[in-house]
Amino acid sequence: MGYHDCPLNRESLGFCTWSLLHTMAAYYPDEPTLDQQNDINQFFKLLGRVYPCEMCARDFAQLITFRPPVTSSQEALSDWLCGIHNQVNKKIGKTIFDCTECNERWRDGWKDGSCD
Ligand code: FAD
Repeated sequence: MGYHDCPLNRESLGFCTWSLLHTMAAYYPDEPTLDQQNDINQFFKLLGRVYPCEMCARDFAQLITFRPPVTSSQEALSDWLCGIHNQVNKKIGKTIFDCTECNERWRDGWKDGSCD
């Protein structure tokens, strides 16, 4: 699958969006202020209203109502987002990702130097 479809289709938009979201979580502060926690909460809430795939946005909004963002630290947010992404993976029949590998995938790089 190419990730430079023009205009973006659902798959390429999804890949690009998850890349942004996981990278945001990877660089979220270890000790966020209350303002930073409110901002990230608002961001995910609004994403569920404006994401330009109607079904995806609706299900995402519902998902985070039951499982709201855990914003207390970088590790907590990355782990929460991984769990949310895995819920979507499960729904559409994709492989479940090992959440202990989040920082390797999105912040530090794979130990073998590869990039998927
Ligand atoms: P993606 O799922 O896009 O993942 C990109 C990369 O993230 C993977 O290559 C892997 O390295 C890594 N990764 C995978 N899982 C995790 C994880 N749990 N934690 C951390 N990293 C991970 N598509 C639909 O068909 N129906 C939907 O309802 C739907 N809802 C969506 C909701 C949102 C908010 C978003 C952002 C996307 C949604 N999509 C939906 C798109 C779908 O999730 C995929 O992005 C798309 O199918 C492309 O999949 P992909 O195989 O390229 O990998």
